[in-house]
Amino acid sequence: MSTTHVLGYPRIGARRELKRATEAYWKGEIDQAELERTGRELRARHWQAQRDAGLDWVTVGDFAFYDHVLNVSALLGAIPPRFGDAGEMVDLDTTFRMARGRAPTGEPAAACEMTKYFDTNYHYLVPELHAEQRFRLASRQLFDEVAEARAAGHPVKVVLTGPLTWLWLGKAKSPGLDRLQLLDGVVDVYGEILQQLGEQGVEWVQLDEPALVQDLPADWQQAYERAYHRLQAGPVKLLLATYFGGLGENLSTAMGLPVDGVHIDCVRDPDQLTAVLDRLLPHKVLSLGVIDGRNVWRSDLAALARALAPVRERLGERLWLAPSCSLLHVPVDLDLETDLEPQLRRWLAFARQKLDELVVLGRLLADRSGAADEQAVAEASAALADRQASTRIHKDEVAERLQRVGPADRQRRQPYPERARKQRERLSLPLFPTTTIGSFPQTAEIRAARRDLKAGRFTPEAYEARMREEIAFAVARQEEIGLDVLVHGEPERNDMVEYFGEQLDGFAFTRAGWVQSYGSRCVKPPIIYGDVSRPRPMTVRWSEYAQSLTGRPMKGMLTGPVTVLQWSFVRDDQPRSETCRQIALALRDEVADLEAAGIPAIQIDEPALREGLPLQQRQWPGYLDWAVDCFRLTASVATEATQIHTHMCYSEFNDIIGAIAALDADVITIETSRSDMELLEVFEDFEYPNEIGPGVYDIHSPNTPSVDWMVQLMEKAARRIPVERLWVNPDCGLKTRSWAEVEPALQNMVAAAEILRERY
Ligand code: GLN
Ligand code: ZN
Repeated sequence: MSTTHVLGYPRIGARRELKRATEAYWKGEIDQAELERTGRELRARHWQAQRDAGLDWVTVGDFAFYDHVLNVSALLGAIPPRFGDAGEMVDLDTTFRMARGRAPTGEPAAACEMTKYFDTNYHYLVPELHAEQRFRLASRQLFDEVAEARAAGHPVKVVLTGPLTWLWLGKAKSPGLDRLQLLDGVVDVYGEILQQLGEQGVEWVQLDEPALVQDLPADWQQAYERAYHRLQAGPVKLLLATYFGGLGENLSTAMGLPVDGVHIDCVRDPDQLTAVLDRLLPHKVLSLGVIDGRNVWRSDLAALARALAPVRERLGERLWLAPSCSLLHVPVDLDLETDLEPQLRRWLAFARQKLDELVVLGRLLADRSGAADEQAVAEASAALADRQASTRIHKDEVAERLQRVGPADRQRRQPYPERARKQRERLSLPLFPTTTIGSFPQTAEIRAARRDLKAGRFTPEAYEARMREEIAFAVARQEEIGLDVLVHGEPERNDMVEYFGEQLDGFAFTRAGWVQSYGSRCVKPPIIYGDVSRPRPMTVRWSEYAQSLTGRPMKGMLTGPVTVLQWSFVRDDQPRSETCRQIALALRDEVADLEAAGIPAIQIDEPALREGLPLQQRQWPGYLDWAVDCFRLTASVATEATQIHTHMCYSEFNDIIGAIAALDADVITIETSRSDMELLEVFEDFEYPNEIGPGVYDIHSPNTPSVDWMVQLMEKAARRIPVERLWVNPDCGLKTRSWAEVEPALQNMVAAAEILRERY
């Protein structure tokens, strides 16, 4: 039998039980004992699922009430001083305060920073690192969970973020601190942890080191050797787990470490297998990640068995099988999807189904398969053949249209300076024009109306009428406030990707396909299963209605192709770039229709462009090429008098400024208010040629920015960017704010623009 295991399992529960329990605890509706009970139940259930499926190991240590990286910080006693003296053992509320700034007990303090875990949509809490920081074993949670699993009779393999990846994910908070200076102290505690796990009878510990698939400086590679040489002395066997990509330049480092086994991701980088096998020392286990842990498609078991047979032959029992990465990144259970088209459902596998796939594969490879396994393989093959041939997926018109795309389709008809002249004439805008990013407050009433529509309490007509009222309200407020370019406010949108996906062909939606995004927050990404096309206009009637209410220019509002792609599960039977181009063409039709309806400005949001960057820098140019191309395909259908805006809500542009400029949007609005306009330096140095709206209103804060503050920010901006090319706008959309907050803030913003016009 090939040993089968998972790197981790979703912790939220098939019905988001963990979300419900933690939120109830934060609100004081349940006490800590009850929250702990939910945690225990979920762990027991998830371990049992692994056991029932027939996995050889049950993985312990993947559970967290908020975040597993935060758990490691607690384990190491890495608690920033502002959270008070944690005492000997860090308690649960301290970790919640680190995550959210407050908890049922303890003093509130500024929460730790949160950011995306590698290239996933999972967010972890960034460890804060200080010079002279001392580490110590400061949590018993992991050991308690091990005891719990052992008491239930499970064969336990422990998972823990490795010491180097933990440091790599951390941020130096003392000036000049090199994070590696802290390594020895961290490794000391890891040594203690491994010691205790050994005493508990644990045989294997999986240390997650996905940092090894990124470009590592030489001193980090050496640090790996130093750290693992020290850890090998412990009483447990170590499985070094890498995922989200290939080992690349770190191959020799990773394969040379004194560990007992290595896990590699054969879904993202199947080609690394040969080199890895060549360097695998004869006593080591090789765990192959062959079931996709980042996507929802059913595996081709027959093909996998064929491809893996020679590896099994060569390694025998030293071959382990696993999903490519933790199953944290896929939904829990396909069985809950009772509303999905049966044909489409057959093509899918969520976390629980992936366990079964793994075990069947293990038995096949060991020649221990029975009739049930043969049947599972046959079903998988039949589903795959059905998927390959399905007319629901393949639409000739879409492929043919893509074929016909030429250079002229990716190029605005006139260069920016001429477009700018025409647009200025048409829109008759003052210096420092004001606008917003799209959404206005999504009030409780708006959300209630959407629920009523879904539940059948509202007819579609009644719902439309309600949304029109909202639009009229937002337009009237904007006119009163005195904004120059208006928006309709997006009341009709539940979510900026879902709204478009629901109207495009080739997308499917699940009932319960939740994936943890951060803490108790989950997202339900659409599934792009087939060729994408747009059967009919999606936003035109709303924008047209909004424009009919005002003499001021109305800005149409679209989510860009890269962002739609990035926030969905994407089909795996063609390159991502191909799917993105299809989305781009569908959105291009929307741009054309908005323009034909007389909408003079159209914004194409791409907040996810940056997060789509591959983990290894040598793959950046290829990605940026097609990502920029897709944006241009969408936008370039617009004539020169239509102003194309784009929006991005992050503040790191230095390494992608060339690509940003290549988008050739007439106006880009960005998040800057908290960075004091310093980030405009890259735009200045690059001599960014088009217009920029650096955000002056931090929409994450309930505070009203003062007129003076915004004037000062814009004056700083004017030192870097010619004033003819500056806009005044908030950092991002206003959907999470209330009207009571938004109105005074925007009034101040308009007043600031008026002062600026007098000064320049
Ligand atoms: N137009 C969107 C909004 O205003 C943009 C959202 C975003 O940037 N994430 O809500
Ligand atoms: Zn934004």
